[in-house]
Amino acid sequence: MPLGNDALKLEGTEMEALNVGFIGLGNMGAPMAANLAKAGCVVRGFDTAGTSAEGVQMVASATEAATGADVVLTMLPNGAILRSVAAEILPAMKPGALLLDCSTVDVESARDVAAQAEASKLLFVDAPVSGGIGGAAGGTLTFMAGGTTAAFTKARPLFDIMGQKAVHCGDAGAGQAAKICNNMILGATMIATCEAFALADKLGLDRQKMFDVVSTSSGYSWTMNAYCPAPGVGPQSPADNDYTPGFAAELMLKDLGLSQQAAEAVDADTPMGALAHALYAKFVEDEDGMGKDFSAMLPRFSARGRTS
Ligand code: NAD
Repeated sequence: MPLGNDALKLEGTEMEALNVGFIGLGNMGAPMAANLAKAGCVVRGFDTAGTSAEGVQMVASATEAATGADVVLTMLPNGAILRSVAAEILPAMKPGALLLDCSTVDVESARDVAAQAEASKLLFVDAPVSGGIGGAAGGTLTFMAGGTTAAFTKARPLFDIMGQKAVHCGDAGAGQAAKICNNMILGATMIATCEAFALADKLGLDRQKMFDVVSTSSGYSWTMNAYCPAPGVGPQSPADNDYTPGFAAELMLKDLGLSQQAAEAVDADTPMGALAHALYAKFVEDEDGMGKDFSAMLPRFSARGRTS
């Protein structure tokens, strides 16, 4: 695609000249950085925990990773850390470079960092991902992106390396908005699917029959059809592996917290999202949900009555 002077040349020898700074090489960041290196990018990485990734030259600070880079990619735990890393690296980035944040953070942090980047004559895209650790390793993530068209265009070749799909959702913050709305639906739907299975059990309905009916009826959903929370029923899912994540309950709790934070900020009424947040908070913080897949809500409901 002819993209003019903004194009990141990822073919032939020019591809090897692409400099990427990668900050935050954790469970997601490390395989994403390794895929960029494998595709021919020169990747300099930094992580406060001293982690590393294949093909990535580790450096001593975030500033060192960002200096001279065409694109600086961040994959960090939350908005506060993103803000502090951005404050450190924005002054060190070269004019016209792109800060590409793939972390899941609050919409406000994404928009504030975008404004700071713009003031420094830099490009910014918020591009949280879905696809989890498997998608990061396999280069099959989906990116939900927010930012200007020029910034999105500049990020596109990196999306193509690390993922299978990138949707330009709108201006800065729109990627985070899409992510938290999707995961609010996901969390509430998983709870609905699990409580329905638990009710079906108590009504003496066979789980396979329940799946056969619901997965082809109006109650169907991604949680039922593609990620069934009942072991031995439907496609392979974390339920078939003793609820080993997958997508951990505490990560769902984080995303539901972000959607409630956003809903409060814009006065949106989200009662189902609020209830899903409260239930996952109880599951993770007061019960045994920490470290389990978010579909482990099913054994939780199965073990309870209406008042327990
Ligand atoms: P992680 O905790 O494994 O990785 C985060 C990394 O950031 C850690 O290695 C940590 O040491 C590093 N870090 C923290 N502060 C830093 C700083 N100031 N400078 C440099 N490095 C710093 O988390 P993860 O699972 O890789 O997730 C990263 C982001 O992706 C999160 O925002 C998460 O919500 C999101 N996400 C995760 C998944 C998943 O399945 N794990 C799926 C989708 C989105």
